[in-house]
Amino acid sequence: MIKFLDLHKINLPYQEAFHQKMQDVLDKGWFILGDEVNEFEKNFASFCQMDHCIGVANGLDAMVLVFRAHIELGNLKEGDEIIVPANTYIASILAILQSGLKPVFAEPNIDSYNLDPSKIEENVSPKTKGILVVHLYGQLANMDQIIDVAHKHNLLIVEDCAQAHGLNFRGNHTRCFSFYPGKNLGCLGDAGAVLTNDEQLATIVKTLRNYGSNEKYVNELIGYNSRLDEVQASFLNVKLPNLSAENSRRKAIATKYLNSVVNPKIVLPVVENIDNHVFHLFVIRTKNRNDLQQYLKENGIETLIHYPIPPHKQEAMKAFQHLSFPITEKIHNEVLSLPISPVLTDSEVDEIINTMNKY
Ligand SMILES: *Cc1c(COP(=O)(O)O)cnc(C)c1O
Repeated sequence: MIKFLDLHKINLPYQEAFHQKMQDVLDKGWFILGDEVNEFEKNFASFCQMDHCIGVANGLDAMVLVFRAHIELGNLKEGDEIIVPANTYIASILAILQSGLKPVFAEPNIDSYNLDPSKIEENVSPKTKGILVVHLYGQLANMDQIIDVAHKHNLLIVEDCAQAHGLNFRGNHTRCFSFYPGKNLGCLGDAGAVLTNDEQLATIVKTLRNYGSNEKYVNELIGYNSRLDEVQASFLNVKLPNLSAENSRRKAIATKYLNSVVNPKIVLPVVENIDNHVFHLFVIRTKNRNDLQQYLKENGIETLIHYPIPPHKQEAMKAFQHLSFPITEKIHNEVLSLPISPVLTDSEVDEIINTMNKY
């Protein structure tokens, strides 16, 4: 069976270094917000070419803390509307709701699966104050046009980069990352980070992540417990130097798929510029998605669906269930993600291509 994502194999080359780091952390006896977190924040800020990195507990919290910080700064207030792609992972929506803001769903572009700037504009109301851009599946959203719309209507931009580690971003926006094990840069548990060039915002996020406190037992803000712990940070320090090489391997596999999967029943992703994609996922579309998934399974290939139910159709989202988004619903009915992890072998990639072509 070709696994969709073999996390054991992905982490195998780092095992010895992980053991050493674990031992170092044990020897120091310091487990929360210490040297490893500081080092990772420095390393990842430099990797992203941004001024500040604040390690937090997970990707969802990274977004919640950024929205809360904008509220503290007076840039947003509770009840403000944030435009978000309707086909994103639920975390993007939850971050808006948990910050006391209102998500306004916008249909994506069917080819890029990312926000469609014209659909953003259709949804702007007097209460709209921001856009949560998601670089879904690892592909850069249409930033030039999104930035134009944002300027025109004076909207904040926050970026959900949970699937986009190593992407060449555009503009000077606050970016939120997750290091969940399956991401392009993944640790061995939960972790996340906020990247920003805004010093004031960085200071507030740093305060919010630690009970609203900078000085022990002195609380300035209604904070959270959302700290990145030392052990996870130490594992991220081990893996970060290899992120670019792993992303290159993903790109090479994607290029092979794009050039070699030829089947009229299968719609390949539209990639306008291969340098604007880090291929967290390789997502194809087909009318009989469940049938193709079953066929691939019978032929020893594991696939996943990102995602089977759109956020507005989830039971948890009762307030939005009456809404209808035909493009989003079509995407959720037709998408299927092929394996694209950096540890796939060439022969596994060939086997996937041949099997797809025989369908
Ligand atoms: C993984 C993911 C998140 C959430 O990250 P967690 O660390 O699991 O909280 C948010 N948005 C997108 C698009 C994701 O893929």
